[in-house]
Amino acid sequence: MADVLYRKYRSKSFAELVGQETTVAVLKEAIKQNKIAHAYLFSGPRGTGKTSAARIFSKAINCEKFTELGDVCNECMYCKAINNVQTQDVLEIDAASNRKVDDIRELKNNIDYLPTLLKKRIIIIDEAHMLTNEAFNALLKTLEEPPEHIVFIFATTESHKMPITILSRVQRFDFKLGTKTTIINKLANIAKQENFEVEEAALELVYKKSGGSYRDSESLLGKILNSTSDNKVTLEEVQNLLGMVSDSELVQILELLIDGKVEEFISLISSQVDSGLDLSYLVEQLLEKCRDMLLQTFTTDKVRYMKVMKVVNALIKAKRDGKEFTDKQLVLEIYLSELGLGDVPPTRPPESSSSKPVAPEPQPVKAQDLPKPIEEKKLETPVSTSSMVASGDFNQASFEDTVFDIHGRVGGFISGCRTSYSDNNLTILVDGVWKQKQLIEHTVTLKEALTRMGLTPNDILIVVDDAVSVQQVPQETVAAVVAQVESAPVEVGSLDDNSALVEEFI
Ligand SMILES: [Zn+2]
Repeated sequence: MADVLYRKYRSKSFAELVGQETTVAVLKEAIKQNKIAHAYLFSGPRGTGKTSAARIFSKAINCEKFTELGDVCNECMYCKAINNVQTQDVLEIDAASNRKVDDIRELKNNIDYLPTLLKKRIIIIDEAHMLTNEAFNALLKTLEEPPEHIVFIFATTESHKMPITILSRVQRFDFKLGTKTTIINKLANIAKQENFEVEEAALELVYKKSGGSYRDSESLLGKILNSTSDNKVTLEEVQNLLGMVSDSELVQILELLIDGKVEEFISLISSQVDSGLDLSYLVEQLLEKCRDMLLQTFTTDKVRYMKVMKVVNALIKAKRDGKEFTDKQLVLEIYLSELGLGDVPPTRPPESSSSKPVAPEPQPVKAQDLPKPIEEKKLETPVSTSSMVASGDFNQASFEDTVFDIHGRVGGFISGCRTSYSDNNLTILVDGVWKQKQLIEHTVTLKEALTRMGLTPNDILIVVDDAVSVQQVPQETVAAVVAQVESAPVEVGSLDDNSALVEEFI
């Protein structure tokens, strides 16, 4: 049922084929100038309109009114014949089920016939990469000396599986996934025509779930419209339908995590997982909520800020490793369980069973080897904090709290980083060069924290661990920073000014 909507609103003209403007412009120009190639390759992810484009192009080549309209008319006898699949002159072959050499031989015999109705015969080969090598070889001879009346259109999601001999004989077009705006606009348009009122946030969710595929997003919208009892669709309804938690439940779940009530969290989600909760999406949802909370608490509530930061770190690790394990729930629970442990240092991530190549060990950078950081203003007398420990023992949680007390932003940087202390040396594993650079600038703060904990630090090593490298800065932040940096009167080469700007936004 869900595909009905997709078929109903399938693009029938170039104007309706949204998001592929460059391809459309080049194809139109080719027809205008009567420079139609013998073979085309439409390559791109599933659901981006390749087959629709192939049909539109077939009509455009033959349409009576194309020159006049600059698009297909869908009314002339040729357009109609193609739309209603009433002509053998346009042949659609699914290579997934007709992949053998015999199928291609049959096609080749067929090719010699002149078109009966149209100007040219168009052979559309869908999922072309599925053809066998023998079938490709059989086709190759035809492509080398193509008959005048034939146009081949290969459509594929995996162009890298196509033989180079074929690729070199086709004109290639790459189809792109839909952007948030193009997909949401198209869905809103369909919903309107179907007399449904759908909340924009619900459409945004459909976009996110379909990963930019027009077909998948339209199928999902069809499923949603079919399942509602009235003509209004809310975000909450869509979340329920997709086995996701609602916004209010999300806040509840996050509060449990922030408070370290991991057991309650696990028992809450276990029952929901059984009834189809999408865990990967839950992690995404939680991260988005965390980002809002970080922005709210950064200047107002540092304790909460730190707690949310810990949740973020655990979720990011779970998201990263969840991809490699079948039991995503287990991975999530392992990482989140750290939140309930308070002072125990985090565990190493579970070892992957696959024998993947290991990235080369990054070289540790000694803080003392680098140019001396700008001296920070030292506090005359240590401020008494609840997190301070009496003497001599290193523990990560106290260290993070103490650093946070001295310098909030540095506290944010080290939160969730793996830290160890032995033989008076502190080692911090960070997830990126940028963070490493920031921390090196603040070794004074780190030493100060250790001293306050009753330790006598000698060396501080800040090591980039590629295994934990995760992009934690939201795209919007990066864009905002870039815009600021570009417009700000910053001297050329003044890296420090730029990084200060980045810091301001975090
Ligand atoms: Zn026409």
